[in-house]
Amino acid sequence: MSDNTNCTNDCSTCGENCSSRREEQNSFEAFLNPYSSVKKVIGIMSGKGGVGKSSVTAMLAANTQKQGLKTAILDADITGPSIPKAFGITQKAAGSDFGILPEQSESGIDIMSINLLLEDDREPVVWRGPVIAGTVKQFWTEVFWENEDIMFVDMPPGTGDVPLTVFQSLPVDGIIIVTSPQELVSMIVSKAVKMAELMNIPIIGLIENMSYAECPDCGKKINIFGESHIDEIASTHNLKVLDKIPIDPKIAKACDDGMIEKLDIDPVKNTVEEIKKI
Ligand code: ADP
Repeated sequence: MSDNTNCTNDCSTCGENCSSRREEQNSFEAFLNPYSSVKKVIGIMSGKGGVGKSSVTAMLAANTQKQGLKTAILDADITGPSIPKAFGITQKAAGSDFGILPEQSESGIDIMSINLLLEDDREPVVWRGPVIAGTVKQFWTEVFWENEDIMFVDMPPGTGDVPLTVFQSLPVDGIIIVTSPQELVSMIVSKAVKMAELMNIPIIGLIENMSYAECPDCGKKINIFGESHIDEIASTHNLKVLDKIPIDPKIAKACDDGMIEKLDIDPVKNTVEEIKKI
């Protein structure tokens, strides 16, 4: 029974977050491969593409793996996968008696992405939404995730089909929202916050990427996209700004060269400290 007196028993038309809705949501739950073990799942969201969500996901994973946490990345950005490239992975995933085997990065991060399954990763994925969402679910249920302490889920931008599937099917412990100063940050954050609330998932905090550029000569910070409003927006929603990452050619080069694990700067340090608390 619902604890909402106006309940029509039709959750698809109601935004209430009552106990009966939670039951409804749980029915979408996808079960982990019986041989797998994943302790914590962190979703990485953004409002639109190109803000650096995948680069941030890759840097977070490189950091947690370096700190001794066995780390995995589930690349749920099926139509725009960029995780394998950031780690320089070109091999294809193989099967085993335990399930599909993820590919490993140089430092040992387990990675699954559609690019590891496509014969030619330059071919576009032209699939309908339910097929894409089903693939993400299969990445959770059919891949052999061996003793992972933490898994980062790189979600496609926005609040569409795939984020919904991830939130309903995977036991997400928290999400991180990546923004950049030139987007309509306030609107994007509001939408992501509302979605997380509807799905009962805590928001760990915000990361502002491409926040500023630093003059290599005098160290002065230049706000290329104008002044940032991330602090005001975060406080409106009672959220933390975890890191502000500058535009740094080293990051772009490391991603392009597949060397993100070799980056000699650590722009996501505060975020990782916050993640470790959960
Ligand atoms: P998204 O996943 O949001 O679409 P990407 O992570 O693919 O974005 O980043 C888009 C491009 O911007 C990539 O070429 C990446 O290397 C570059 N990039 C991301 N963050 C930074 C940064 N802080 N400084 C410089 N280049 C960056």
